[in-house]
Amino acid sequence: MIRVNENYAKLQASYLFSEISKRVKTYQGEHPDKKVIRLGIGDVTEPLPPACIEAMHKAVDEMASRSTFRGYGPEQGYDFLREAIAANDFAARGANVAADEIFVSDGAKCDTANIQELFADKLTIAIPDPVYPVYVDTNVMAGRTGKSSKGRYKGFVYLDCTQENGFVPDLPTQPVDLIYLCFPNNPTGATATRAQLKAWVDYAKANKALILFDAAYEAFIRNPELPHSIYEIEGARDVAIEFRSFSKTAGFTGTRCAFTVVPKSVVGYTKKGEPVPLHAMWNRRHTTKFNGVSYPIQRATEAVYSPAGKEQTKALIDFYLQNAAIIRSTLIELGYTVTGGDNSPYIWVNVQKDSWKFFDMLLKRAQIVTTPGAGFGRCGQGYIRISAFNSRENVEEAMKRLRKVLK
Ligand code: PLP
Repeated sequence: MIRVNENYAKLQASYLFSEISKRVKTYQGEHPDKKVIRLGIGDVTEPLPPACIEAMHKAVDEMASRSTFRGYGPEQGYDFLREAIAANDFAARGANVAADEIFVSDGAKCDTANIQELFADKLTIAIPDPVYPVYVDTNVMAGRTGKSSKGRYKGFVYLDCTQENGFVPDLPTQPVDLIYLCFPNNPTGATATRAQLKAWVDYAKANKALILFDAAYEAFIRNPELPHSIYEIEGARDVAIEFRSFSKTAGFTGTRCAFTVVPKSVVGYTKKGEPVPLHAMWNRRHTTKFNGVSYPIQRATEAVYSPAGKEQTKALIDFYLQNAAIIRSTLIELGYTVTGGDNSPYIWVNVQKDSWKFFDMLLKRAQIVTTPGAGFGRCGQGYIRISAFNSRENVEEAMKRLRKVLK
């Protein structure tokens, strides 16, 4: 008898974004004449930087000739890309990460989920609330939690992120083994200072825990005081794995390229307490189960680090950050307390009402789609997330409508 993974039955019925699309579809069906502006799902809207397109074209042409054709590539990524990442994203910031500690992949979503294969079934996992839902759901699928009750799964240690702690969680009051952190944060747009990250690194060291640090939005950091990588913090090389993505950095959501850093010094432990390097384990997992990112896409990604690519990606992110600034200042002007939108593409708005009700009100009265904070966890209740990924025209039109409806 073929048995199923019954952990899937524990997953809460409606995934946030499918519920949003259902409500938007229903509304549009009833009001086909209304123009809905989507500031909900965090997908990019602007085309790829020209430097990436040029590099991709050139690489495609190489595939057309016997002398330059490439078949299977190294699963961990081509050296040209791993070296460009090590030099530009880490060495340039004083962070010590070697090229062979970088594993190129097709997404931070898959990597944050797949990394769990390296760990034992029974772990105490600290999960921020609100949170990017992938960390939660993939642990549920893997059987690391009990059932859900009142929006929380049994077995997790939830780290409340609130207005009071600036949406940077406090250290847990009980020992935990695995810690998820994400800065700049999705959904709150909050960032963490060096001192705040140092406290987490010290905690992980003291508890033999591991930090999974998601830095998918690091390119949006403009405040020079803020760290971009956890490896800018002393000691992090021993206790942290970092996830990065070109999805938002360079508009690669449809193109697919990301990477994970597993330092050679980071370890997990056997039942007997013997340390085991996670680098070798992840290398084994990656080479056994992943075929690598295609050559043209890796060449397009390498171009992100060329002089023209750097200028173009900076301009792309500046464009979204200007959208974010417009949204942020409008909401502040309307009297709302907001977080994010300065070093992040997300604006987290305290609406002091049920977030789904506020979502429905904005959809019906202003035809604007946002994301209800409650969909990211219990602490997201009373908030909505607004995304800056859109055209300037749409953002300006949306703010005009917000002014009318919320004043
Ligand atoms: N991590 C966070 C916090 C995200 O918000 C997202 C995408 O929205 C991802 C990871 C996924 O990145 P990728 O497109 O590389 O899978």
